[in-house]
Amino acid sequence: MPPAVADKVALAGFRRILGDDAVLVDRGATAPYLVDQRRLYEGKALAVLRPSTVEQVSQLLAFCHGTRIGVVPQGGNTGYCGGATPDDSGLQVVLSLGRMDRVRSIDPVNYSMVAEAGCILANLQQAALQVDRYFPLSLGSEGSCQIGGNLSTNAGGLNVVRYGMARDQLLGLEVVLADGRVLSTLGELRKDNTGYDLKSLFVGAEGTLGVISAASLKLAPRPRAQATAFVAVRNVAAAVDLLNLLRETSGDRVSSFELIPNIAIELTTRHIAGVVQPLAGEYAWCVLCELTSSRAADDLDAMLESALSDAMDGGLLEDAALAQNERQRAAFWRLRESIPAAQRLEGPSLKHDVALPIGALPRFVAQASEWIAAHFPQAVLVAYGHVGDGNLHFNVNARRGADPVAFVASADALRHHVHDLVNSLGGSISAEHGIGRLKVDELERYAPALELELMRSIKSALDPNGIMNPGKVLKAI
Ligand SMILES: Cc1cc2nc3c(=O)[nH]c(=O)nc-3n(C[C@H](O)[C@H](O)[C@H](O)COP(=O)(O)OP(=O)(O)OC[C@H]3O[C@@H](n4cnc5c(N)ncnc54)[C@H](O)[C@@H]3O)c2cc1C
Repeated sequence: MPPAVADKVALAGFRRILGDDAVLVDRGATAPYLVDQRRLYEGKALAVLRPSTVEQVSQLLAFCHGTRIGVVPQGGNTGYCGGATPDDSGLQVVLSLGRMDRVRSIDPVNYSMVAEAGCILANLQQAALQVDRYFPLSLGSEGSCQIGGNLSTNAGGLNVVRYGMARDQLLGLEVVLADGRVLSTLGELRKDNTGYDLKSLFVGAEGTLGVISAASLKLAPRPRAQATAFVAVRNVAAAVDLLNLLRETSGDRVSSFELIPNIAIELTTRHIAGVVQPLAGEYAWCVLCELTSSRAADDLDAMLESALSDAMDGGLLEDAALAQNERQRAAFWRLRESIPAAQRLEGPSLKHDVALPIGALPRFVAQASEWIAAHFPQAVLVAYGHVGDGNLHFNVNARRGADPVAFVASADALRHHVHDLVNSLGGSISAEHGIGRLKVDELERYAPALELELMRSIKSALDPNGIMNPGKVLKAI
C-alpha cells in the first residue's frame, strides 16, 4: 500500500476506536507532544492519540501491532532522557495517557489506592491526604508528571532515603501488552509469591514493553511532625557523615537529605524570583535535610537541633539554620526545587544523573571535579542531588562567555570520563532518570553483555513486532 494511503487507513482506524476529537493531527494541537521537556529532541508523528479507557488503549495497541506502527507512550512529558518523544519519521504515534486520570479506589484500612496512569502525581498526594494517608513519591515535576510516567521511569525524587523509589510504592499493575492483551495484577496485596514478579518488568521499562494503564499503590501513615534544616557542611565527606549521624540518632526519621553546592544557591537566587540566601555566609557545600514522623508528639526540632549541635562539635558543620515555621521550610525547598530551572536559565548544561555507593561519593566528587577543572575550563560544575540515596546530578554549565557550540561539542568526552569514573567506583550511569533515547549508547557501553542479552530477549518476547517505543532503552530491533 502506498504510504499516503496507509496513513489514511491508519487514521481511519484510530478514529474508529477513539472518535475524531481524541485523534490529533493538526500541527498546533500536536506540537507540545512532539518535543521533550529539555528540548533536546523534536519529532514528528502520524497522530497523537488520547484514549480515555483501558479498552481503547487495548484496541489501539492491537491495531498498531497488526499494522506495525510504532507507539510512543507519553505521560506528563517531563522526562529528562527524551523517552516520550517520537522519532522524526512521522510514522509513529504518540499515545498520551492524560485523559486516563481517575482514582479508581482508595482504601485507608489497607493503606492503598488504585489510580489510572494519567493521574498527576500531586493529585494522588492530595487524594491520599484526604483520607488521612500519605503517598510519599515526590519530585520537582509533581504538578505535571503522571503516575504512569513515574512508574515507567522508576522515578526517585526527594523522599527515597525513607520510602524508596516508584517501584517501592507499587502493589500491582494493569498493563496493556504490545498486542493489545491486558495483563492485570491490580491486587492490593503486600504478600504474593506466585511465580515471577511480572509487574516489575514494566517498572523502569520506559514504555518499551507495554503501556501501563493503572497501578495499585501503597500508602503510608501521614506525617504529623517535621523538622527541616539548611546546613553548611565542611565538605562532601562531612555531608555523608552527617547523614549517618542523623539516621542513627533520629530513629531513622530522615526523609530527605539533599546536597546543594554554593553555585546552585548563587544561580537560584540570581535567576528565580523569591529565592533567598538561606545562610548568612557562603559555603562550598550545603545540605537540606528533613526529619518526619507520623507521631504529632515527636519533638523533631529538638532532635534535629541536638544532632546538628553534635555534628558542629564534631567539626562536620560550619553553620546551620533550622526552619522556624512553614514559610521558612517552604523557602528552603523552593531553593532546592528551583535548581533545574535556574540551570536552564543560565545557559547550556550537560547532565549526568549518577548513583554511587554513598561512601564513594566524596572520592567521586573530588576526582571528577579535579578532572573537569583541568580539562574543561569553559565549564562550571553544578553538582547537587539526593545524596541520601547516593544520587548526584553531576551537571556542568557553560561558563558565562564560553562558546556554547564548543561547550556542547565537548559533551561526549566529558560524559565518557564521568561515566567511566562512576563505573569504576561501582556506580550507575542512570540513577533515576532512565535511559530513554539519550543514553542508549551509554547503556550499551556499560551494561554487562549478559544483561543486554536478557533485556533483548524480554523485549522480543513481549513485543515481537518491535512497536513499543522503538529505539528507546535498547536500539530498535
Ligand atoms: C523540574 C523537574 C524535576 C524533576 N525531578 C525529578 C526527580 O527528583 N526524580 C526523578 O526521578 N525524576 C525527576 N524528573 C524527571 C521526570 O519528572 C520523571 O522522570 C517523571 O517520572 C516522568 O513522568 P512523566 O509522566 O512526565 O513521563 P514522560 O516524560 O511522559 O515519559 C517518561 C517515559 O515513560 C514512558 N511512559 C510514560 N507514561 C507511560 C505509561 N503510562 N506506560 C508506559 N510508558 C509510559 C514514556 O514513553 C517515556 O519513555 C524531574 C523533571 C523535572 C522537569
